[in-house]
Amino acid sequence: MNTQRFDGLEDFWVEAGSHSCFNSYGHLLTIMEQIGILGQIQAKAKASYRLWKGGKRISILSALHPFELVTSLIKLSRLDKEALSVYEYYGKGLGRKNYSDVFGPAFRSVICQTADDYPAAALFRKKPRRKEVLRSFTMPGGLAEIPRALAALEDIEVRVGAAVRSLSPDAGAYQIVLDNGEMLRAARVTLAVPPDVATRLLQEVAPAAAKATERIGVAEIDSLLLAFNRQDLTVPRMAGLISVDGPFLSAVSRDFLEHPRYRGFAFHFPAGRLEPAQQVAAACQALDVAPAKVAAVRHERNRLPSLRTGHWDLIAELDRALASTGGSPLAVTGNWFLGVSIEDCLTRSHSEMSRLFAGVGQ
Ligand SMILES: Cc1cc2nc3c(=O)[nH]c(=O)nc-3n(C[C@H](O)[C@H](O)[C@H](O)COP(=O)(O)OP(=O)(O)OC[C@H]3O[C@@H](n4cnc5c(N)ncnc54)[C@H](O)[C@@H]3O)c2cc1C
Repeated sequence: MNTQRFDGLEDFWVEAGSHSCFNSYGHLLTIMEQIGILGQIQAKAKASYRLWKGGKRISILSALHPFELVTSLIKLSRLDKEALSVYEYYGKGLGRKNYSDVFGPAFRSVICQTADDYPAAALFRKKPRRKEVLRSFTMPGGLAEIPRALAALEDIEVRVGAAVRSLSPDAGAYQIVLDNGEMLRAARVTLAVPPDVATRLLQEVAPAAAKATERIGVAEIDSLLLAFNRQDLTVPRMAGLISVDGPFLSAVSRDFLEHPRYRGFAFHFPAGRLEPAQQVAAACQALDVAPAKVAAVRHERNRLPSLRTGHWDLIAELDRALASTGGSPLAVTGNWFLGVSIEDCLTRSHSEMSRLFAGVGQ
């Protein structure tokens, strides 16, 4: 959750990461209720995604192959989502042409990387909805309001810019050394970091766990945030762009919460392929606007796990190794367990917390 503002553009913000929460995010809703911010959620205005193909914005409907879709959908319910990759599952269940022209690019835009080899079950997980809550929502000041509210709680201490250099066993507990040399001691530790960082930190305390996490990759994403004066853009309101053959993976607009003076977009590119100015040029081409009209720009780096077929076996191996840390409980959570969504992260965090504090009084 990384809401960014721009110098000189008043209260205008754009999401550099997550942009939508849903009424199926049960753990998130419970947390927001507990800290008293659920009442502040803000509906997102409805808008459609468009495809970016051959240098043009086109509707998703126009790219679909309806006959293939209908004949393929019959197979979808018979396929084993837990065992198949995204390509195997959705390629068969939605049709190969639909997959390559529409759904493959759409799935790629969700996880900001090729989705073909991703485990199908990790892409979208059906979760029960709370019908009395808005179906899709943000916060008035963007989703970063949620972690900000959590960080402001009196019984939680948050240190930013405090990277952990090492984690080692320390007489029935853990010693944590920060990059600035500061040392901390804790009886229980949870790592909530990407898999490559977890691999490094687990080496001394749970080498068998590190053996599992070292086989999980990470995709790097260059995210470009652009803000424009409303009058400088002619492109119609939209949710964003799904790129079929362009240099970016996807774009998400801020049109879901209208601002009186500005519009904004986050364009996500595979990292390291284009120079910053080339990114701006590619984004402006897709928005029919001259780069000179950009009112403000920011560059951010995102990372997302690259899950592959066989991922569930790696997680089972990791969990077995973590369970054997017994007397000094150690947990690992994040967006590489059940799936990448915020609720998937929280579901894993909740189960790890229950395990970590099992047998400890309230
Ligand atoms: C562009 C984009 C759009 C998305 N949109 C949505 C959406 O609309 N809805 C949705 O549900 N999900 C969305 N997601 C997915 C979701 O936002 C993420 O998967 C989730 O927020 C990841 O949270 P996390 O805490 O597991 O990982 P991260 O946010 O990656 O957090 C890991 C943290 O570990 C820290 N760290 C790394 N090394 C160290 C160290 N040595 N010491 C201390 N700290 C360290 C990092 O600084 C980082 O803050 C989106 C993701 C992206 C990238």
